Amino acid sequence: MELLERFLKYVGFDTQSDENSTTFPSTEKQKVLLACLAEEMKALGLQEVEMDRYGYVMGTIPATPGYEDRPVIGFISHVDTSPDMSGKDVKPQIIEHYDGGDIRLNDAVTMTVAEFPELPLFKGQTLIATDGTTLLGADDKAGVAEIMTAAEYLMSHPEVKHGKIRIGFTPDEEIGRGVDYFDVTRFGAQYAYTVDGGYEGELEYENFNAASARFEVQGKNIHPGSAKDKMLNALQVVCEINAMLPPVQRPEHTEGYEGFYHLVGIGGSVEAAESSYIIRDHDRAKFERKKAFAQEVADFLNRKYGEGTVKLTLKDQYYNMREMVEPHPQVIAKAEQAMRMAGVEPLVKPIRGGTDGSRLSYMGLPCPNLFTGGMNFHGKYEYASLDTMKKAMQTIINLAGLWAE
Ligand SMILES: [Zn+2]
Repeated sequence: MELLERFLKYVGFDTQSDENSTTFPSTEKQKVLLACLAEEMKALGLQEVEMDRYGYVMGTIPATPGYEDRPVIGFISHVDTSPDMSGKDVKPQIIEHYDGGDIRLNDAVTMTVAEFPELPLFKGQTLIATDGTTLLGADDKAGVAEIMTAAEYLMSHPEVKHGKIRIGFTPDEEIGRGVDYFDVTRFGAQYAYTVDGGYEGELEYENFNAASARFEVQGKNIHPGSAKDKMLNALQVVCEINAMLPPVQRPEHTEGYEGFYHLVGIGGSVEAAESSYIIRDHDRAKFERKKAFAQEVADFLNRKYGEGTVKLTLKDQYYNMREMVEPHPQVIAKAEQAMRMAGVEPLVKPIRGGTDGSRLSYMGLPCPNLFTGGMNFHGKYEYASLDTMKKAMQTIINLAGLWAE
């Protein structure tokens, strides 16, 4: 099956995940596509194809005879689409020989070059866009289609020598639970790549170190008419905490490698109030300092208002995968080489977020992220370049060969 045909087939499945669900996967409908992928893998001749009770699908492209001793490498992508916008009844539009101008999605919605200045870079290419009423699902069905089409190619081209290759498809990435039950041992790869990036050449192996911080403030409510020197307004203390955290270190004022404190929740009453933050930094030492400073704020206010006024709970969420990937420089070097062989200039950049790959890296499977060719994820302006998708697929095929050298 051709890459485009496969991609269009997969975006026809509604696989939206649901952050309010308590089941795993969060929505049953993801399993429909996952089961279909398992069947397709079997039909292509892949071995050890299994879907487990959580919905994870794994399969093997067996090593070329004589290459069984090469490192086992894996390719992973997720089938779910973002809860931010519907992925039901996706009606993709295929734009051949794109002219580099505005793209009309429907009578009311146009994707303009003014708003998306990168569009002219795709002039002359084939783009796949939405009809303006749903997302496209290139995140991450572009990755799924690229891995499957590369698998089909490798199965039918024995002249490309490769070691054992493992393929994994996962649910619930968009709600941050994508690898909660992923069995790294059963996957059995030494190194893997998530195929879940965007623009051509993107190669990501640095993400944030991440923690959550929750301040709980105990106040003392007294009738305001007789409150003088007695009341402690918990809401005011919550405001004071926020004022002590550096305003320049907020997401709306930072970029690149700059970390932040991000206020994500605030509430309560005079008697008791609380606020929640997420803390992010690529640099581990700066990350630890940011957490320590949050603790100093709590300690200072306890000295000021009395012990027990402010209780801070800090929880680490995930870490920068760079620490886990850097000891294996080949993982990056081969990805760069595979891209160049596909005519792509690698574009290494830090992720201002986390990925399933970062969690997998800390579970013992170094796992950088590769581009897919999808753009503007999670909304109606999502689109993909078929030209870039083909290069992503070629990068996967090249990687298979490079790891067998
Ligand atoms: Zn994704």
